[in-house]
Amino acid sequence: MKRSPSRRSSKIRSKAVARGSTRIRPFSRAQQSELAQVRGVCLDIDDTLSTRGKLTPEAFTALWRLKRAGFYVVPVTGRPAGWCDHITRFWPVDAVVGENGAFTFYMKDGVRKRIDTPAGEEARSRKNKLKELGEKIRRRFPWSSWASDQNYREFDLAIDICEDVPRWPQNQIEKLLKFCHENGAHAKLSSIHVNAWFGEYDKQSGFRNWLTEGAPGLRGRAPQWEQWIFIGDSPNDEPLFASFNYSVGVANLKEYIHKLKSPPKWITRQESGSGFKEMVDRLCEIAEANSITPKKTALTRKTYSKAPRVRVGSRVIRTRTLPA
Ligand SMILES: [Mg+2]
Repeated sequence: MKRSPSRRSSKIRSKAVARGSTRIRPFSRAQQSELAQVRGVCLDIDDTLSTRGKLTPEAFTALWRLKRAGFYVVPVTGRPAGWCDHITRFWPVDAVVGENGAFTFYMKDGVRKRIDTPAGEEARSRKNKLKELGEKIRRRFPWSSWASDQNYREFDLAIDICEDVPRWPQNQIEKLLKFCHENGAHAKLSSIHVNAWFGEYDKQSGFRNWLTEGAPGLRGRAPQWEQWIFIGDSPNDEPLFASFNYSVGVANLKEYIHKLKSPPKWITRQESGSGFKEMVDRLCEIAEANSITPKKTALTRKTYSKAPRVRVGSRVIRTRTLPA
């Protein structure tokens, strides 16, 4: 799906986006004192970390920068179990919440483990209902096709609306969402799919369940709920926008802002992976300037004492360079 910077995105640079009585502030105006509280980063993947279907070098480097700066990193995605297995093993992350909150994958002693989010009914029942829903969707929307990653999913049905097919008209997307809801399913819109599932969970409750279970896979003490920040781009990210103290939309979220009852607190100047990097750069600069990251404990007193001094506001502090 092609997107190009628009005049509307440039307006976001200069002033807050108004939506009803809620104002979304530019991320550049986020207070240093607020961002200094952040210890963990939750992120959506499609069109938040990725850009038009690609994981760019700058975005992946930003992900590594976060980890090396000592932040905990947890993608929370609508992507399937098959993808999440790969991400958990290969990416610099602590855990991955997948299929819009259905489960969390993590590594323990070199072995990939999982936690399934309580859904309120048995998996077999949910899968049977999902199969029936799929048959109904095929009859009602005969041109519909499942996402190419459907074979790697365990709990949801992903209908492709623009990833490998021409973009569906907006009114048909709305009808599909409504049709799923009328048939008793949860349905959420991402930038590429409509995801439908049975079971009482979403991205927010999936992530919360992992934290409640003790945040397995994470080394060290898990940050408190209010010490996490979330960044996303789509309506299926709304449960997380709504529940975190600190939440960020990448600039391409503007396409969906009118649909959100709970928009994020801030919005980046740039879109997708560049917007993600924009947030990461700011978080890391603040963390490094304040020397608050967990990596500080790995530095020797000698290394720290040699760090140059800089002035931050009224304070003079020592900076430090994290080991590569
Ligand atoms: Mg997305």
